[in-house]
Amino acid sequence: MGLFDLGGKRALVTGSSQGIGFALAQGLAEAGAKIVLNGRDPARVADAAARLRAEGALVSELAFDVTDHEAVRFAVDGFEAHVGPIDILVNNAGIQHRAPLDEFPPEAFERLLQTNVASVFHVGQACARHMIERGAGKIVNIASVQTALARPGIAPYTATKGAVANLTKGMATDWARLGLNCNAIAPGYFQTPLNQGLVDDPAFCDWLEKRTPAGRWGQVEELVGACVFLASEAASFVNGHTLFVDGGISVSL
Ligand code: NDP
Repeated sequence: MGLFDLGGKRALVTGSSQGIGFALAQGLAEAGAKIVLNGRDPARVADAAARLRAEGALVSELAFDVTDHEAVRFAVDGFEAHVGPIDILVNNAGIQHRAPLDEFPPEAFERLLQTNVASVFHVGQACARHMIERGAGKIVNIASVQTALARPGIAPYTATKGAVANLTKGMATDWARLGLNCNAIAPGYFQTPLNQGLVDDPAFCDWLEKRTPAGRWGQVEELVGACVFLASEAASFVNGHTLFVDGGISVSL
């Protein structure tokens, strides 16, 4: 399984103090990578780092706000200079805001754009500049099943995730010949704090189980295989792809 071995590599996962990001960090560590955890709250990042270290992972903590271009550059450039290279970037940090589109607050729309899309540019560019110097790097952007499908009350989120898939194509188009592999994962519905409102709603759970060919919610660990694949040499000729991990929801009515 050498193709999937991440030994000797270091992976930065944004928004990895909980949820999908933490599970991906855990999975990348199991595949051999050193991990850089991120989130805005240093205490929560430290807490997550302690949990990963207890499992034997080599972990650095790098708290910054992915929406702040200057803070991102400062953190990534400083880390590269003083600790070492970031070989793999997982752009995972993201938020949700649910409201009918005709009542949607413009500030929430802007926050979604900044956190879900602009962050992929900010952190992607900061890391890619170093990857390009080395002629190698892997970027995995976390999109969503909403890349392909809308659902009532989350139109702006849907717009941001469509943009993530297209930005991934653009990154691949600009950077593949410079040695980078840029791809995306589109998760279906996973039980995380971001989705707590839906997890707690029996009517939604009933709808989801009927609507999803696999008949259930996803477990965050089920995203790890796709991430390790796209972060590894196994994906050396995969560029600009969005890999759906959704129990079949995007291929069925
Ligand atoms: P969670 O809300 O559970 O976790 C989000 C993480 O991102 C937290 O660690 C949070 O930490 C961090 N974060 C949020 N804003 C920022 C910021 N500005 N800068 C740095 N870190 C930030 O979300 P999920 O794990 O559910 O989602 C992760 C990704 O997966 C998102 O992009 C989401 O859109 C996507 N996704 C999730 C699905 C699901 O079913 N859960 C389905 C499809 C896609 P802190 O608040 O301390 O900064």
